[in-house]
Amino acid sequence: MTISPSKSADPGSKPMIAMRGVQKHFGSLHVLKDIDLEVPAGQVVVVLGPSGSGKSTLCRTINRLEPIDGGEILVEGQVLPAEGKDLARLRADVGMVFQSFNLFSHKTILENVTLAPIKVRKKSKDEAGKRALELLERVGIASQKDKYPAQLSGGQQQRVAIARSLAMDPKIMLFDEPTSALDPEMVNEVLDVMVSLAKEGMTMVVVTHEMGFARKAADRIIFMADGAIIEDSDPETFFSNPSTDRARDFLGKIL
Ligand code: ADP
Ligand code: MG
Repeated sequence: MTISPSKSADPGSKPMIAMRGVQKHFGSLHVLKDIDLEVPAGQVVVVLGPSGSGKSTLCRTINRLEPIDGGEILVEGQVLPAEGKDLARLRADVGMVFQSFNLFSHKTILENVTLAPIKVRKKSKDEAGKRALELLERVGIASQKDKYPAQLSGGQQQRVAIARSLAMDPKIMLFDEPTSALDPEMVNEVLDVMVSLAKEGMTMVVVTHEMGFARKAADRIIFMADGAIIEDSDPETFFSNPSTDRARDFLGKIL
């Protein structure tokens, strides 16, 4: 597999994400076990693994939705603070899209996209509105801008959620099973938006069971089991020649 120049690591630059010896417990449950992961800018990482293996928790620690209890996480070389203003700023740099769309139900589509840029990025209403329209155009929803979330299909709502994240001009986008709650006919319209983001060089960490997306868009596959990364390879190697029984089992079930 060839990796385009924009996606290869520039040796002089800091990784976009660096997790070093990250540990996470929920009570007595050891959910992330000594995670080491460096993601260069522009890389698209697909995280696979059985249910309960720690994929969501891994994503959530990257923007500190979950605090960690050992190791460190750096975004562009900066250690993620536990709280305070710096955390708010860093979190704004890391967009996240979940399985549930989490749009504000009492706000219009346009308002959903402009809210955070106005509040957090201190953009003017005009400026935020202009950018929001561009983004809604890009995800194919501009004509729905004055509607409320409940008037849109699940696939449309998820595309709005992506536009809303992009409106913050994030450096990293995290996706946690963004198509799992969608009817099958709506999955592709969301994946298409993600593929185009990937092509444009966004740094992405994507938890998904969509193997077509993984093959098409991933630069790298991380396979997790029991809170650890047990495989880390390019998609071709992973899908044709996984090195662990756990991954072979997993692929046998899912493909
Ligand atoms: P995945 O996304 O791979 O299915 P998760 O990261 O959601 O896995 O969960 C990893 C493990 O941590 C599971 O055993 C899950 O039950 C547990 N877990 C996740 N979130 C919490 C929580 N808030 N409190 C307690 N246990 C949790
Ligand atoms: Mg999960």
